[in-house]
Parts: sequence; C-alpha cells; structure tokens
Amino acid sequence: MRMSKLYLPTLKEIPAEAEIKSHQLMLRAGLMRKLSPGIFSYLPLGYKVIKKIENIIREEMDKTSSQEVLLPVMQTSKIWQDSNRWEKFGPIMIRFKDRKEHEYCLGPTHEEVITDLIKDELRSYKDLPLNLYQIQTKVRDEIRPRFGVMRSREFIMKDAYSMDEDYSGLDKSYQEMYDAYVKIFDRLGLKTHIVEADSGAMGGKDSHEFVLIAEAGEDDIALCDSCDYAANTELAGSYLAKQTVSQDIMEKKLIDTPDIKTIQGLENFLNIDGSQMIKTMLMKADDQLVVVLVRGDDQLNEVKLANFLQATTIEPAEEEDIFEVFNVKAGFIGPLGIEGYPIIADWRVKYLRNAVCGANIVDKHYGNINPGKDFTVDDYQDLRTVQNGDHCPKCDKGHLKIKSGIELGHIFKLGTKYSESMGATYLDENGREQPVVMGSYGIGVTRIVAAAIEQSNDQNGIIWPKSIAPYQIIILPLGNNEEVQKTAQNIYERFQKMDVEVLIDDRSKRAGVKFNDADLIGIPLRITLGSRSLQNNVIELHNRQTGQDYEISLDNYEVEIKKFLSELK
Ligand code: ATP
Ligand code: MG
Repeated sequence: MRMSKLYLPTLKEIPAEAEIKSHQLMLRAGLMRKLSPGIFSYLPLGYKVIKKIENIIREEMDKTSSQEVLLPVMQTSKIWQDSNRWEKFGPIMIRFKDRKEHEYCLGPTHEEVITDLIKDELRSYKDLPLNLYQIQTKVRDEIRPRFGVMRSREFIMKDAYSMDEDYSGLDKSYQEMYDAYVKIFDRLGLKTHIVEADSGAMGGKDSHEFVLIAEAGEDDIALCDSCDYAANTELAGSYLAKQTVSQDIMEKKLIDTPDIKTIQGLENFLNIDGSQMIKTMLMKADDQLVVVLVRGDDQLNEVKLANFLQATTIEPAEEEDIFEVFNVKAGFIGPLGIEGYPIIADWRVKYLRNAVCGANIVDKHYGNINPGKDFTVDDYQDLRTVQNGDHCPKCDKGHLKIKSGIELGHIFKLGTKYSESMGATYLDENGREQPVVMGSYGIGVTRIVAAAIEQSNDQNGIIWPKSIAPYQIIILPLGNNEEVQKTAQNIYERFQKMDVEVLIDDRSKRAGVKFNDADLIGIPLRITLGSRSLQNNVIELHNRQTGQDYEISLDNYEVEIKKFLSELK
C-alpha cells in the first residue's frame, strides 16, 4: 500500500478525551474515529487489524467442531420475554419499536436467538452435540462508555454457543473451547491469564475469563505468587484457616461512641483495629432483607452473597428498612437482639473474640462481643473480597497479588437455563424429552485491539505483535533523489510479490514526519533509504519490537529481511 493513497489521518497531539494509552494511540495513529460516546468508525489501518484478529479467531474456531453462522442484530422482545430477561437486562439494552409497534432490541448478546433458532430444528439426541459461532457487532448502552474500544457501546464480539445432551457433553464442549481460546490468545501474541470468574447475568456454573494484566484494566484479578491459582476478585476464594482463639471471653459492655458511625471513626476513637470489629450491613437480596456481617477490615463481596443466596440482585437496604430491622439509624446497627431476619456472616467473624459492634442504640457500640455467645448466626460463608497479601486459598503456601486486568474472553457453562425457559428440548435414546445443556463463549474482538496496544507501546507509538500488525514492513525513501525513489519502489514491489504486507511512504514529507508516523502506527520492520545509504549499497533496517538497527546490503536484502520477518514476535 502506498501511504500517499492510504486514508490515515494521524494526530500529533494527544486527544484530551482519551485517558488511557490505547485510546490515545488508536486516535493518534488514525485507526478509528468517534461518532458519539462509545461508538466508533474503523479506518483502513484499524479495520485491517480487526480483520486479522477475526481471522485468527475464525481459523482456530474452524479447527474445532464449531460452525460459523450470522445471527440477526435486531431481536424481537418475544424471545427475551421467553427467557425472562426482557425486564432483567435493564437499560444496557437498546430497545425500540418497528413501524407496526412491535418491540425489538439491538442484540447485546445472542443466547436467546440461538436457543430460539435450534429449538424448532432439534429432534433427537442424534442432532447433538452442536456448536455454532458468529463474529458480529453487539450493542450495549454501557453506563460509562470509556477508554475507547475497551468499553464501547458498539463492539465486535465472537460468540459461540454449544449444545449437548448432558453435562458430561458440556464438559467436553467447554474444554474444546477453552483449548481453542488458549491457541487464539497465543497466536494473537497476548499474554493472558485464565481466571475463575463469576457467571453473572448469564446464569450457569463454571466460568473462566481470559484476562490480560494491564494497568488500564477494569477488573481486579487475584493471582497466587506460588501456584497457578488465578481468580477474579468478584469470586476469588478466601483462605479459611481454622483459627484457634486463646483469648478469654469477657462480658459485653456498652461503650459511648458519640456520633461515630464508621469503622475508621471507631478505629481512631477507640484506638483499636478494624480487625477487632464486626461490620453489620442490611442487604436486600431480590425482595428479602438479610443481615450481613463481615470483619471491620473486610469488604462484603456482593457476588459471593448473591451466589450463596441465589439472588439476582443485591443492594444495600433503604433507610426505612434499616430502622425497621434495627430500630436505629445506620452507623450504630449490630446483630444483637435481631429477630425475624436471617443473619449471615463471613467466616472470619466466627473467630472474633471480644469484638466491637453496633449496639442498636444511638451513639453506642458494644465491646467484648463474642459470636455464638452474644448473638447467633444462621450461616457462616465466605463473603469477603480477598485482599492483596491474603493466603492463597488453593496452595496454602503462596500469597495473593491483586492486579488490574482486561477481560478479553469469557466462557460459561450455562446448563439448561435457556433451554428450559425457552423450550429447547430433544428426545433422548429412550424417547424422553430433555432440555439441551448449553455453554456460551465470547471474545471481545475490538477490545483486543486496545489490549494489544496496552500490552506493547512506547512514547513514540504502537508496537504491534507480528500476527496482527496491519503491515509487516514500512519502507521510507528519504529526500528527492530519483535513484532512491526508484530503488525503494523496486524493494516495495519485490516484497509485494513475496506476499509480504508492505507499506511505502511515498509522500513528499520531511524525514522527521515519516519516521514519526512509522513509529506511531507501529509497523514491526522499517526500511530506510537515502542517497548516502545508496552510495554505500545498503539499506537501514529498524526493528520496532527490539529497537535495534541494522545495515543490510542491497545485494541480498530479500534473504536477510525474510530472516528478520521470521524472527518477529
Ligand atoms: P464486562 O464485564 O467487561 O462488562 P461482560 O462480562 O459483560 O464484560 P461478556 O458478556 O462476557 O462481557 O462478553 C464477552 C466479551 O465481550 C468480553 O470478554 C469482552 O472482551 C467483550 N466486551 C464486553 N463488553 C464490552 C464492551 N462494552 N466494549 C468492548 N468489548 C466488550
Ligand atoms: Mg464477561
């Protein structure tokens, strides 16, 4: 491709709206432009990268038993009502009516469409297993679109759906997708961690995310420094050591705590640590009020609580509810004397001795409180969010490090949630009707572009991995010397014949501009020619990935550069 013809509007300045490196560089390198918040047009260079990512995904998916389809973006409300998600999905779903006043949405995901598609076609167990995938635009009206394509409102996703007779079939399908994902991310040159994840609104049991560790990431990942344990902190398990408590149990006492309503306030006022306190919360799990206790230095993990209670939504209770249950305002609430509401506590509360908690009296707390003696707990569960430095729940030796990560792929075992609600059944060997057992498998194609840039860039621009670089080589003829232009042209044509993706900067721009643009757009190998290099019968080669420079004889540059190409990462 000739740069004089390429639609490549680069920017010198960092766009003010872009907070993170990848967003800045995608705009500066002319990969995309914004139409409105979270909605982008992809320009030739950006779309070339996207197509490369799609092709790697497609090739690896085609090696599995999955078959490519293309499902509609416009989806009728009917199928979402069948699965009971029309209301539940909330404002993230873009809804509208057609001219006949029929309700539709723009697909945020395709479990409903796929289940609806197969339910009329599936007859017997002989039609299973089946796995279908697509690569397509998804629409989600994200509450905070930001970071460019990292969290956009319109984005390209590869989504696959497996259908099996039973759970052992699902396990196999899941493993097949898991293995394909490992290969895909390896080929994309992205160092991903495979982490245990919550299956969230999709329903279901097992779930893994493929996460790239990066500062710009919006997810917190707990990684063990000694074994392979890796989990999203949404559900990372807490280390449950059986603690022996030697302290003597003392008699409870009422303490004056004037206007002191927070753990921090109590720490200062009483000069004791949050680890000696019980934090009491009233939560609303769907429609049920639940009293929840964690240690003062811990944070309640709402995903763990939702999973334990099998609740769809968890939110803090309203002020009136708090008053109703505790007969006092928030700030002084505690578990003593509570009747008629379940009390659920984190395991670490169980081992507290002589702790402090709210007294359910304005401006008062209790001291010397002992669980089991002063109040009873209905259930002890792992309810806290893990913290940096925690013992690893798996190997017991290592410690957890919490890092930010970007979720690039997510695989779920859905089970029969959709097949049961939507009636996707098949006849088993005994002629009995059974619900299909399903899995769903997503990869964020456009998010991967941003992640690859976050993984590898410098102050001058992007440094693409070989597999998704829009071009492998960029040729910069410098100055107006005709001989230089002719030689550059020859080299360009030679590489084209060799099927190497090559760019030539044939614009009449200053050398500095050409160098800056070449660095900015991140092409792995840069060949420079000027009148001086021609006199010496050499070209200069710069490897963007390693930063190294070489002089290569014009007599056998093809062989030499082929070697460099094959060594690119
Ligand atoms: P997140 O937790 O980041 O909101 P999700 O769990 O809702 O994502 P999935 O439904 O699992 O996302 O979608 C599969 C993949 O699609 C994700 O792993 C991610 O790579 C990508 N993706 C999801 N939402 C967005 C978005 N708003 N912008 C870009 N990519 C997205
Ligand atoms: Mg996800």
